[in-house]
Amino acid sequence: KLATVAAIDTLAQTSLLRPNPRLEHALENSKAKGLPPIAVSPLTGQFLAIQCQLIGAKNVLEVGTLGAYSTIWMAETGAKVTSLEIDPKHKEVALENAKDLDVEVLLGPALETMPRLAQEGRQFDLVFIDADWGEQWEYFDWAVKLTRKKGLIYVDNVVRELLESDKLTADKESLVTQVGKDDRVKATLLTSASSHKGRADEMFDGVLLAVVQ
Ligand code: SAM
Repeated sequence: KLATVAAIDTLAQTSLLRPNPRLEHALENSKAKGLPPIAVSPLTGQFLAIQCQLIGAKNVLEVGTLGAYSTIWMAETGAKVTSLEIDPKHKEVALENAKDLDVEVLLGPALETMPRLAQEGRQFDLVFIDADWGEQWEYFDWAVKLTRKKGLIYVDNVVRELLESDKLTADKESLVTQVGKDDRVKATLLTSASSHKGRADEMFDGVLLAVVQ
């Protein structure tokens, strides 16, 4: 049913999204500089922006910058975005794309940078996790320590990670089972069907959304 999902995506994108030259330029420049086309979809970008607006986010932490496409969506709501990236080339392109916005990109493995931010006493209203799937739980654990009470944590690609690692039952430990045992948060899973990657086997995905208690 990829054709139907694609039609719904197209309807939603053409109806709900406004033209945004900065975001369009970010995608074009990222492609021209050879970055992989793995940014969030435009509708997901708008979802992140809505979350930032809903909670009046002033400080956002992002794990996984790439070319700053999702960063720009969140920074344009007025939040300062601190984004973590391991690849110096991605950082360079991200800073080009997000110039004029309140964005800092911290270079290095996120699991080294996140403890440092915690040591500095940094606190965020929202953390968006979109880096290495194999480290989702470790990012989440640090994110909880770095998020203010009632703040939000959003982990992308949780359903794809579950599907690809075949951890679909509760007896196999996964991000979902680990978060379920974590009394520091209240969480839910939002599953989705999207055609934006254009392949039937990549149609299903979903995000984990948690509020820190
Ligand atoms: N959030 C971006 C967007 O939607 O525009 C997409 C991020 S992309 C899916 C994942 C990024 O995480 C890549 O740029 C990759 O280099 C970076 N990354 C991978 N492992 C990392 C790590 N351990 N620490 C920091 N960044 C990492």
